[in-house]
Amino acid sequence: MSEFKSPRKRFGQNFLQDQNIINNIIAAISPRTTDKIIEIGPGRGALTYPLLNKLEQLHVIEIDRDLANWWQEKRINNLKLHELDALKVDICSIYPEQSCRIVGNLPYNISTPLLFHLFKFLPCIQDMYFMLQKEVVERITAVPGSKIYGRLSLMTQFYCQTQNLFQVSRHAFNPAPKVESAIVQLIPHPIPTNTPAEIFAAIVKQAFSQRRKTIRNSLKDWFSPAQLEALHLDPAARPETLSLASFKALARAAKQPAND
Ligand code: SAM
Repeated sequence: MSEFKSPRKRFGQNFLQDQNIINNIIAAISPRTTDKIIEIGPGRGALTYPLLNKLEQLHVIEIDRDLANWWQEKRINNLKLHELDALKVDICSIYPEQSCRIVGNLPYNISTPLLFHLFKFLPCIQDMYFMLQKEVVERITAVPGSKIYGRLSLMTQFYCQTQNLFQVSRHAFNPAPKVESAIVQLIPHPIPTNTPAEIFAAIVKQAFSQRRKTIRNSLKDWFSPAQLEALHLDPAARPETLSLASFKALARAAKQPAND
């Protein structure tokens, strides 16, 4: 493609080129004409064109000025381009009237900060489909007791139902990245009103900052051993053995005064 400069590493540009994988991703998203979809990082359009074929309107967010110009010059009627850093976009302002669906073959270097950014906008997000490094998808969907279960699993599962849909070989991309990929589906739960999200996030962060410590030690600023036992938690447990429900219970208990 002579009209393009070389793919930019700093923007994580590995372009999808396997038509079967593209078809499978579009089938998983299953777009309906009136869906309010936002694509993050359209690149050269591997997912964008099939989406444009199915939708009345598509919003895309692209940071690379050259790619943004390339899209702009095409003057595609049902495409709305935002030449912006997705990490700074107010997602709810794009379709202010309705909830949106977000899709993207994400640059690996920003995937975790981008997820945390998107968690701020969940009330206006219907669902999300992302291509991520396979290990990141495995961490997102991990269950308690596994070595990869941790902060990313708990934070994502606090906000969303998560599903690892399928793996994608690195050979599906040009240039081929060093890592394998997978597609994850995230469907936001109704916003939990009975659990303080900020306290939940702080406790999870603290518990996993030294994951080999027992919760008696890592959470000692938050709870006494007796308080942990009152929540039916073993003070000698390590954080990776605690379920999402247990961390939510901790967050709810932490906002109570100690003598309550
Ligand atoms: N969707 C295309 C595909 O599947 O072939 C491109 C995927 S490529 C892995 C990632 C895309 O995200 C590139 O187009 C890149 O320029 C863009 N990108 C990287 N960082 C970004 C950011 N912070 N905000 C918006 N787009 C970004």
